[in-house]
Amino acid sequence: MQGKIIDKKEIAKATLQVTFEIPDEQFTFKPGQYAFITLVTPPYPDERSNKRHFSIVNSPNQKHIITIATRIRDSGFKKSLQELPNNSLVEIGPIAGGFILPSENNRPLVFIAGGIGITPFISMLSYIKEEHLPYQITLIYSNRDQSSAAYVKELQELARTLPNFRLILTMTEDTSWVGENRRVDVQLIKDYTKNLKNPLYFVVGPPAMVDAIQKTLLEAGVNPENINIENFTGY
Ligand SMILES: Cc1cc2nc3c(=O)[nH]c(=O)nc-3n(C[C@H](O)[C@H](O)[C@H](O)COP(=O)(O)OP(=O)(O)OC[C@H]3O[C@@H](n4cnc5c(N)ncnc54)[C@H](O)[C@@H]3O)c2cc1C
Repeated sequence: MQGKIIDKKEIAKATLQVTFEIPDEQFTFKPGQYAFITLVTPPYPDERSNKRHFSIVNSPNQKHIITIATRIRDSGFKKSLQELPNNSLVEIGPIAGGFILPSENNRPLVFIAGGIGITPFISMLSYIKEEHLPYQITLIYSNRDQSSAAYVKELQELARTLPNFRLILTMTEDTSWVGENRRVDVQLIKDYTKNLKNPLYFVVGPPAMVDAIQKTLLEAGVNPENINIENFTGY
């Protein structure tokens, strides 16, 4: 389906948020899903094509728009996305992905995000707040430093207003940060979850980080069925 860029802004260091308008009445998605974005008139060539997939950041209750967030890089695709003016046409779709909220909401959920891997969780948490869904959630959000951490203010506001939502921020390379600074491993997860084996885990980020956390949870005896992952290939 056709769409167009309606807004772009830098929301953290080397991190661009882009919003697309989609006139199609049928357009919808589930929180946590991703969309393929194809640039119709990219100013720069890219050997890996002018198409990438991105988790959708906004809630599906916001009709006719998709917001994504991405790290600015020197690929032809990213340079084009950065330079294309508002009203530039894009192709959106397909919408895909099984990384969505469980139908059962009686088990604690542990969300673990590495860097830009935060994107699907913003959609999920916004939707949970809007629909007053009784999920019990702990979000462990790891970044190198505060300047490259996207959506921190929004998450801190949600932590103040969304019942049963706890936010754990860890900055692993920021000496000015007064707070958690450990890398995410099983000890850190244990420190913030009562019973390691009970929650459903949702882990998103660069493949190396996701693999390491999945491995550490499995070694700690967590049932593989309780671990949902989304690998942000390309990082
Ligand atoms: C389900 C899903 C959701 C995603 N959501 C987001 C999001 O919300 N925000 C975001 O920034 N990114 C997201 N990504 C990643 C995104 O699609 C891009 O791959 C990423 O942004 C890097 O794009 P690039 O143009 O900067 O780098 P590229 O030039 O595309 O890639 C950088 C390097 O990674 C290598 N690479 C890329 N893809 C693969 C692959 N599949 N396998 C092996 N090597 C690869 C390339 O060869 C290159 O060396 C998502 C990916 C998936 C699978």
